[in-house]
Amino acid sequence: MSPPVNPVFSDDKLPARADAVVIGGGIIGCAAAYFLARRGISVALIEKGRIAGEQSSRNWGWCRQQGRDKAEIPLIKESLAIWGRLQSEIGADPGFRREGIVYLTRDPAELAGWERWMGHAREHQIGSRLLSAAEAQAMTPDCRERWIGGLHTPSDGRAEPAMAAPAIAEAARNAGASLHQGCAARGLETEAGKVAMVVTEQGAIRTKAVLLAGGAWSSIFCRRHRIDLPQLTVRASVMRTAAAPAVTEGAMGTPGFSIRRRLDGGYSLAMGGGVGFEITPDSFRYLRAFWPIFRMEHRNLKLRFGRAFFEALAQPKHWALDRVSPFETMRVLDPAPDMAVLAKALANLRAAFPALAGVTMAESWAGMIDATPDAVPVISAVESLPGFHIATGFSGHGFGIGPGAGRLAADLVSGATPIVDPHPFRYARMIDGTKLMPDVGL
Ligand SMILES: Cc1cc2nc3c(=O)[nH]c(=O)nc-3n(C[C@H](O)[C@H](O)[C@H](O)COP(=O)(O)OP(=O)(O)OC[C@H]3O[C@@H](n4cnc5c(N)ncnc54)[C@H](O)[C@@H]3O)c2cc1C
Repeated sequence: MSPPVNPVFSDDKLPARADAVVIGGGIIGCAAAYFLARRGISVALIEKGRIAGEQSSRNWGWCRQQGRDKAEIPLIKESLAIWGRLQSEIGADPGFRREGIVYLTRDPAELAGWERWMGHAREHQIGSRLLSAAEAQAMTPDCRERWIGGLHTPSDGRAEPAMAAPAIAEAARNAGASLHQGCAARGLETEAGKVAMVVTEQGAIRTKAVLLAGGAWSSIFCRRHRIDLPQLTVRASVMRTAAAPAVTEGAMGTPGFSIRRRLDGGYSLAMGGGVGFEITPDSFRYLRAFWPIFRMEHRNLKLRFGRAFFEALAQPKHWALDRVSPFETMRVLDPAPDMAVLAKALANLRAAFPALAGVTMAESWAGMIDATPDAVPVISAVESLPGFHIATGFSGHGFGIGPGAGRLAADLVSGATPIVDPHPFRYARMIDGTKLMPDVGL
C-alpha cells in the first residue's frame, strides 16, 4: 500500500570515508545531504529502504506556516523561501506551488485558538488572516457546509511528496553526495569518546560527523548508543482521489476532511484528527514526557493495544554491529490505512461539495508519524557524543519545514552560521527537565 514515489538510483560503492554521513533518506536527510554537498563537504547518504519510502512520500503535502508552534516559525519561513527557489536551483520540479492554505470551522473554541495564534502571525509578519463567517463562506462558494470562521495564509504552499525528496536527493548527488539505498546503518564506532565510523550492512564509513535523520527509527538507533530520545509514533491514513474538479488550488482543512490539490488533478484526502496510537512499551517508558500533549490530543487519537506491543517488546535493544540490526528486518515501514476513517472523510467531502459528489478513491496508504513530547523537532548536536547530530521528531509537520530543517542541520554539522537560532530545537531539552509543551496558541 505504498504511495508512488519517483525512483532514485543508488551509487555502486560505499565510500571508505566521508566528511559527513547522513542516516535516513527522508526529506530531512536528503535536504541536509544537499546543503552539505553544496558546501564541498563529502557526504554519504545511507537509507535502509528507498529514498522517501516512509513519511516523506506518505504525507499530505502541505507546506504550512499557519497554526505552527511559535518555536518553528522562523524556520518554516526560511523553508518556504527555499521551496520557492528550489526548482530553479536544482533544475527539477519538487511540485511546490504557493497556493495558500485555509482552515474552516464550526467550533468557537477552535476559532478562538486561531485568533490567539494570530499573535504569532502578526509578530512574524506571515500575512495570515482570521476569516469571519462571511469571508469563510466566500472562500468556499460551492460548499454546502456553514462555517463560523476560518484562518487563511495565502503565502503557504503545497508540494508533491512523490517528487520532492527524490528531486532533492538527485540534487545532492549532482553536488557530490553519494546515495546508498537498501543499506541500513547498524550503529556507530567511537574513538576517544567521539564518532569515528558508521557501520552499515554494506561496510563501514570512517567519518567524524554523523547526522541521524531516521524518522520513526531514531529513538531505537539512539538507544543503542545510550542516548535517550523520547519519541512515539502515531499512524495516519491518507487517500489519493481520481482527477476531479477544483474546489481549491491549495489546501483546505475542515472538521470532516482535509484536502490538498495535486498536480495530477486529484486530491490528497484525509481526516484531520483521525490518527491511531498503538500502545507499545515506549508508551509507558515515555508516559510522563508525553502526558501534557496526550491530554491535549487524546480526543483525536484512536488507542489500540495489540500486536504492535509484542512486536516492539521482542525488538532487540542492543545488537552487535556485525549482526543484522532491527533496521534490516523492516526495509519500509508500511502500516495499513484505517479504511473506516478514510471512507468517512470521502463521504464528508462528497457531501460538502456537489461538484465532488462523484469523486472516487484511487489509492490509499498510511504512515507512522514520529513525535516528540512538545511536537517540535530535535535538530541538534548531542553533547555527550561529539560528532553526533540528530534531526528528527518532526511530529507530523516535517515535510513543509523539511528544506529549512535540512539546511539548519547542515549548518550545525558543518559549523556554519545557523540559518535560524537553533536553541528551540536543542536535544538537551529532552533530558534536562525542561517542561515540554506545544505552543500553537491553543
Ligand atoms: C500521513 C501523514 C501526513 C503528513 N502530512 C504532512 C503535511 O501535510 N505537511 C508536513 O509538513 N508534514 C506532514 N507529515 C509529516 C512529514 O511527512 C514528516 O514530518 C517528514 O516527512 C519527516 O521526514 P524525515 O526525513 O524526518 O523522516 P522519514 O521520511 O520517515 O525518513 C526517515 C528515513 O530514515 C530511514 N532510516 C531510519 N533508520 C535508518 C537506519 N538505521 N539506516 C538507514 N536508514 C534509516 C527510514 O527508512 C526512512 O526512509 C505527514 C506525515 C504523515 C505520515
